[in-house]
Amino acid sequence: MARKLLLTHIDVPGINTFEVYRQKGGYVAVEKVLKTMSPEDVVEEVKKSGLRGRGGAGFPTGMKWSFLAKPEGVPRYLVCNADESEPGTFKDRYLMTHIPHALIEGMIVSSFALGAHTSYIYVRGEMMPQIRILERAIAEAKEKGFLGKNILGSGYDLEIYVQPGGGAYICGEETALLESLEGKRGNPRIKPPFPAIAGLYNCPTVVNNVESIATTVPIINLGGEEYAKIGVERSTGTKLISASGNIVKPGVYEIELGLPVEEFIYSDEYCGGIANGKRMKAVVAGGSSVPILPANLILKTAAGNSRLMTYESLADGGFQTGTMLGSGGFIVFDEDQCVVRNTWNFARFYHHESCGQCSPCREGTGWMEKVLHKIESGHGSMSDIDLLWDVQRKIEGNTICPLGDAAAWPVAAAIRHFRDEFEWHILHPEESQTRNFGLAHYADPLEPIVS
Ligand code: SF4
Repeated sequence: MARKLLLTHIDVPGINTFEVYRQKGGYVAVEKVLKTMSPEDVVEEVKKSGLRGRGGAGFPTGMKWSFLAKPEGVPRYLVCNADESEPGTFKDRYLMTHIPHALIEGMIVSSFALGAHTSYIYVRGEMMPQIRILERAIAEAKEKGFLGKNILGSGYDLEIYVQPGGGAYICGEETALLESLEGKRGNPRIKPPFPAIAGLYNCPTVVNNVESIATTVPIINLGGEEYAKIGVERSTGTKLISASGNIVKPGVYEIELGLPVEEFIYSDEYCGGIANGKRMKAVVAGGSSVPILPANLILKTAAGNSRLMTYESLADGGFQTGTMLGSGGFIVFDEDQCVVRNTWNFARFYHHESCGQCSPCREGTGWMEKVLHKIESGHGSMSDIDLLWDVQRKIEGNTICPLGDAAAWPVAAAIRHFRDEFEWHILHPEESQTRNFGLAHYADPLEPIVS
């Protein structure tokens, strides 16, 4: 069995309560940092651990913390980004639902490290059950003396507030989140200044993902160096993966980074293989924003090496033959799924969620949705594929926030790897209109796939 650090006690009855979480070693990290460590020590341990942001970007967490400005007399804030909305990603919701104290404990450790005395958990507005669970966990922790004034007699004060989100995907972008938290429309800010300098209420702020914050607990318990021994290369530790699509066992899995992708998909410990005896066609490895890869390229790099679940290995080959670990939303497509239809579905999502501030994103996502629908429904022409390619190229890199890139990359990858599927829709308009998609229309690059 693979090592677990976050989900170790996931099956223990009552682990969502303070008592059971504490019996299982909970809040020991808080005792350790408040009684034996300085804030600088905690930052140093997180740096040594090699932890990289688990929300998608993969930026080193300790380094992000070290950028935080510390002007005299100005409050600093920690904001937890729990606005998990990326299609295919549901691991933060799982953690908050089942082990809410892991997040609260991580919030205390991280807030102490940053010198924050007021911290926020910004939760996707649709997640009302999780909001209630977190509020109850905060009340329990406060009652037991782990929050509020003079925590454990250390002289350190901390309050944590839960803020329901505004119901928009864009509020997961950190500056849009801060705007929303301030009570304004969730429009991303132009950077610089970055939140570490001017964030919430114009004060120095760190925004971290749920899993990143919860992971500071095992880092403190193990020590940064020990944590860094788990995983491979610059992908240290464990990672929560939300697995969905045409697999036998969809769900949330904690993996050690470095696990071969093939083992993750086919072993009974994880996804259990492709459902209904089908063959795998493609995988979106890190949430809807990352490039889709055909089955042969998700299992092996273009150089023929086994593809691993790490930031580096998944990115091997760049966007030509690689992808990204992203948020860990791992979506598997079997041979019967239509890539064009899926790409249209993602494009609809990004068009709907664009905040509209910049024209390449506002207009481009709309055009991509329209053209994809035209092709998918059997009304397209060959020049529409080129038009689609042109539109996504004009979005990428030309927008205020990463939503533009997130909308463009899936379209580019779908055309790059599945152009013949787009062409099939154009050449077979009547069959396209029946919505009857099968492998029969798809030329067979699937042979290299392991059985
Ligand atoms: Fe808004 Fe899209 Fe521009 Fe981001 S890229 S600021 S979502 S219009």
